[in-house]
Amino acid sequence: MRLRLLPSSFPGSSPAGPAAGVPAAGVPESGAPAPRFAAQPLTSFVVEGAGAGPLAVDAGSLGLVGEPADMGRIAGLVLTHAHIDHVASLPMWVEALLSLDRAPVRVHASAGAIEALRAHLFSGPLFPDFESLRELDGRPLMELVPFPEGAPFELAGFQVTAFPVVHPVPTHGLLVDDGEVAVLFGADSGPCDALWQVAARAPRLRAVVLEASFPERMQAIADGSGHLTPATLAAELEQVPEGVRVLLAHLKPAYRGEIIAELSRRVGDAVEFLEPGAWVDLGQ
Ligand SMILES: [Zn+2]
Ligand SMILES: [Zn+2]
Repeated sequence: MRLRLLPSSFPGSSPAGPAAGVPAAGVPESGAPAPRFAAQPLTSFVVEGAGAGPLAVDAGSLGLVGEPADMGRIAGLVLTHAHIDHVASLPMWVEALLSLDRAPVRVHASAGAIEALRAHLFSGPLFPDFESLRELDGRPLMELVPFPEGAPFELAGFQVTAFPVVHPVPTHGLLVDDGEVAVLFGADSGPCDALWQVAARAPRLRAVVLEASFPERMQAIADGSGHLTPATLAAELEQVPEGVRVLLAHLKPAYRGEIIAELSRRVGDAVEFLEPGAWVDLGQ
């Protein structure tokens, strides 16, 4: 199995040229690991496994990366939740697949996230209701498919198990298992016991993907908005099963350097920063 975080910032394409005096990667002088790109405002992952995938998890930048034919290689899409940094490019991805005659494009999400997408995104003012619109032969353009909670379902050749995590809107962590290797996506969440209960029951688990959204001076905001800081992440790490890698994404761009410096002090090399676009090999 392998996975990657898709890019959502594009160096060299600054809209008004590079800002003066800003360090290229925004990395502090603490010797902390330096991700290649500073800003990753949107979240989407792609997973490939033994005879399975590619499966996309979230669509923050899924519809921005590559040509329509590349986007059409995605065999399934599942969403953790409907916050805009996770669905910003969803309409563009659906349109790309429609251009390849792939109607209906299926998007798997929780019932709660589907309700939000129907009410606020595919409802007219922001984008058309693609569930109601039809191809000339009658096929709907898109289907929003609710996934079950707690029981595995099949998607793109993987067994996927969704479970609620700690975030202000309906949000689900996802265990993605190809039968040989499994990876656990923690989604956006504050400290979450359910995540570690799932991890403890997943013998093939090789990696967990976690977030660190805010620096520790903003602990109250992180707690109130269902996110982690390096301090609460460090406490969560005590529950990681032996031998399971911790991969990190979802560092708010404005605080990235600060978060990385705090993580360096708190947890050292116990976490790995996902480098946008780079595959991480989780073995077989
Ligand atoms: Zn969120
Ligand atoms: Zn988010």
